[in-house]
Amino acid sequence: MTRVTSDLNPRAGAILTVDLGAVVANWTQLRDRVAPAECSAVVKADAYGLGVARVVPALATAGCRTFVVAQFEEALAVRRALEPVAPQAQVFSLGGLPVGCEGEFIANRILPVLNHLGEIAAWRAFAASRGEVLPAVIHIDTGMNRLGLGPDELDDLAGHPQWLEGIDVRYWMTHLACADEFDNPMTGEQLDRFRAALTRLPKAKASFANSSGIFHGKDHHFDLARPGCALYGVNPTPHLPNPMRDTVRLDAKLLQVRNCDASMTVGYGAAHKVAGPARIATIGVGYADGYMRSLGGKGHIFVDGVAAPIVGRISMDLITIDVTGLSESAAHAGRMVELIGPNRLVDTVAAEGGTIGYEILTSLGRRYHRIYVGG
Ligand SMILES: *Cc1c(COP(=O)(O)O)cnc(C)c1O
Repeated sequence: MTRVTSDLNPRAGAILTVDLGAVVANWTQLRDRVAPAECSAVVKADAYGLGVARVVPALATAGCRTFVVAQFEEALAVRRALEPVAPQAQVFSLGGLPVGCEGEFIANRILPVLNHLGEIAAWRAFAASRGEVLPAVIHIDTGMNRLGLGPDELDDLAGHPQWLEGIDVRYWMTHLACADEFDNPMTGEQLDRFRAALTRLPKAKASFANSSGIFHGKDHHFDLARPGCALYGVNPTPHLPNPMRDTVRLDAKLLQVRNCDASMTVGYGAAHKVAGPARIATIGVGYADGYMRSLGGKGHIFVDGVAAPIVGRISMDLITIDVTGLSESAAHAGRMVELIGPNRLVDTVAAEGGTIGYEILTSLGRRYHRIYVGG
């Protein structure tokens, strides 16, 4: 991804560059890996922070025909983004069927994911009231214990196939708890439970794997894969080098650089005490931009070939870094530095902040000047 300079927008304190070409390349790689199964794109949480309005048309143009979100409102935004490119694409909403909203799912051609017998009953009743057969996805819980039919509900449904009358089951789906831990036996157990459930239910397509699940092999692909994080460059195989391309970079401007003497302190709580003569640079990004406060005293920012340590607390709008080892020409007010990018990977920033790449991406701030490239 080309480096963005502040010349593009002299007012911008920070520039977020999203590489749509990399998102599409990641999807294409996964599509090829799961073929002949279909590859959807999970675009919940505003396409993991990258922006549904740009990511969805780019993926639809590349041929993606199934999009997955968590909430109904998100599904509407995906429908709007699909309208000019692929109006026939299908959109699922994982969060179930809110009471009384059945008609809105139909009016907007959004597939509800039915998570419990109450939702199945509501969808069946709605279909009967219209005298139609209505499509839905049904979620079977195989170990997450969040959403989906639990073992008792599965037994009940298997014993009462008439409860599915009027429902066109597009997919049976389940979701993996530990797919990113490749030696964890849980994935195999969930695979066994899912297969056993499918033998007891009316025949329909099935959907099993998230990003990491795809890398467990063909028998984990079923009919439809549901990658999210890998599309956006998070490593789906944490024990191996990242097979995906980076999709975002975040550059910000040094607002000020100052000299400090030993015993001076930096920032709120006087949390950093300067040990000797030091140069401290301030950047106009803070926790209000999703740059997590937990990175204070832990993270690094890439300045002229060096990972400069964040010192002191991260404030709402500002970060302070120690640039003592850098020359005046390397670290001066107005210079752009790299917060996320090839030298500060999302997964690295996440590890330093005690979190996962997903949280770094989905927290990406609304105040950044955003640039989309490669679309
Ligand atoms: C978020 C989500 C996914 C995508 O998971 P990744 O780990 O980001 O690939 C797939 N399926 C369900 C049900 C999800 O909630």
